[in-house]
Amino acid sequence: MRRWNGWGDDAVIYSLPASAALYIERFLGKSQKPKDVNLDQAVTYVPKARLPIHPLVSTDPLTRLLHTRGQSFPDWVELRSGQIHSFPDGVAYPMSNDDVVNLIRFAYQSGIQIIPYGGGTSVVGHINPINSKVPILTIDMSRMNRLINLDSGSFLATFGAGITGPDLEAQLRAHGFTLGHFPQSFEYSTLGGWVATRSSGQQSLRYGRIEKLFAGGRVETPLGELVLPDFPASAAGPDLREIILGSEGRLGILTEACIRISPLPELEEFHAVFFPDFEHGVEAVKQILSTGLSLCMLRLSTANETSTTLALAGHENLIGAMERLLAIRGLGDGKCMLLFGFSGLSNLVRKNRSETMNITGKYGGIHVGKSFGGQWHKNRFRTPYIRNTLWDMGYGVDTLETATDWGNTPRMVEQIESALRDTMSSIGERVHIFTHLSHVYLSGSSIYTTYLFKLVEDPDENVVRWQAMKSAASLAIISTGGTISHQHGVGLDHLPYLSAEKGKLGIEAITSLFRQFDPKGMMNPGKLVY
Ligand SMILES: Cc1cc2nc3c(=O)[nH]c(=O)nc-3n(C[C@H](O)[C@H](O)[C@H](O)COP(=O)(O)OP(=O)(O)OC[C@H]3O[C@@H](n4cnc5c(N)ncnc54)[C@H](O)[C@@H]3O)c2cc1C
Repeated sequence: MRRWNGWGDDAVIYSLPASAALYIERFLGKSQKPKDVNLDQAVTYVPKARLPIHPLVSTDPLTRLLHTRGQSFPDWVELRSGQIHSFPDGVAYPMSNDDVVNLIRFAYQSGIQIIPYGGGTSVVGHINPINSKVPILTIDMSRMNRLINLDSGSFLATFGAGITGPDLEAQLRAHGFTLGHFPQSFEYSTLGGWVATRSSGQQSLRYGRIEKLFAGGRVETPLGELVLPDFPASAAGPDLREIILGSEGRLGILTEACIRISPLPELEEFHAVFFPDFEHGVEAVKQILSTGLSLCMLRLSTANETSTTLALAGHENLIGAMERLLAIRGLGDGKCMLLFGFSGLSNLVRKNRSETMNITGKYGGIHVGKSFGGQWHKNRFRTPYIRNTLWDMGYGVDTLETATDWGNTPRMVEQIESALRDTMSSIGERVHIFTHLSHVYLSGSSIYTTYLFKLVEDPDENVVRWQAMKSAASLAIISTGGTISHQHGVGLDHLPYLSAEKGKLGIEAITSLFRQFDPKGMMNPGKLVY
């Protein structure tokens, strides 16, 4: 069963080897888990619903509790401590387009606010109800999850927007296709959520971000239906798909999405190379990209992330032996790991692999084979479960992400990390920080920073500390010339920083666009823009 106050299936436990736990303690000191409320207690905190009766709407307290928060750090603190500040008044599970129209009409006529809900995996507060005088209805799209049409000749598939990653891939796989969109939240996140947040999958280097994969669909808005045709290309004025991408539920509900699919790859493989330092790794990645070689992923870790990854992996003897071999070849503490993968026809994979290895070799990279890359691929959706384990050990963990051009990348990494470190050191606390470049482009890179810190017993203090770090890092991002989000979206947590990159006129344009479809401001208010 899905955990109600943590990540993932409660049958899956991410056990940390003793050496890994010691490694964390060495950086942060020993810690203790704050007290959690249990599910039965938490349900009693759900207030009376304020909704008129509707046949499609449930006001059951447990269902409302399960839809009240996503996966951000403050979401976890609220759920774990039981100090939950707001709840939806009801939850509906539409089964058809007509149901969605019916619900939007009901909400429009009764003065109700709507929160479209996909998998609830948002890490920036997208699906959280904001305390309001009017009732709030969460519309959970999970039952609109069918394959509606497969046009294999045109490599297009249309799905109900509530379909999750595993279901979507399983249905496509049965016909010999893949979407190739694998965000780390793949297990629970949905097609509609990906589109509404401009999501990026781990193999976007080969398949593209969701912007490229989203071909068209149907959107139900308070003022009617918007149909987005799936032309291969069009010069017919501005592309209306762009107003749905990243709209975060503010102008309507995507009910069906047509996506661009690819044949299943004949061969897929993942490798690891270690470089003497981050600079050599960055130069190698840029060189690989500039040649136009076809890879499905490239992920470069800083020295700190490399050593953390090796320490947390366990297998001390094996990794120790590998580190000794790398040391003999001159790679010491500053070494940085590059994970990279190929996907496609076998002969092309082999060709691209050999050219890629030539380049990494020129920059001092040492190839350690396929097992490290293979392990990454195998465990990539298991990794987020470490959050549960760390919480139980008394540590909070959060991530930050941005993108900037190559000239700015090393400085950005440094600025984000020092903003986090300085914030915690000003209160005498430590934070363990590590970073990787997760999605790379010819013009620049995304930057993905993870930070671990000790939890304290007081939930408010945990949020105050997190907020101080988040604000300092967000200000560092915008003042160093990065976007406030490369993939997680804006929601509540990034909203204060959006105007820095959109400008006053830009924010006004976005706001009036939403008003055009939603004149009463009933769709997910308070997210993305005020
Ligand atoms: C462990 C973990 C790993 C993650 N890894 C990644 C990653 O690798 N890449 C990445 O991009 N993100 C990642 N995320 C963030 C998150 O998974 C994405 O933002 C994802 O796209 C959200 O999808 P969802 O279906 O869960 O949407 P939800 O969280 O339910 O909703 C997100 C937003 O989309 C809107 N929405 C949802 N469905 C619809 C619809 N049908 N119509 C209109 N609006 C809708 C909601 O109103 C809300 O504003 C991760 C999150 C977690 C917890």
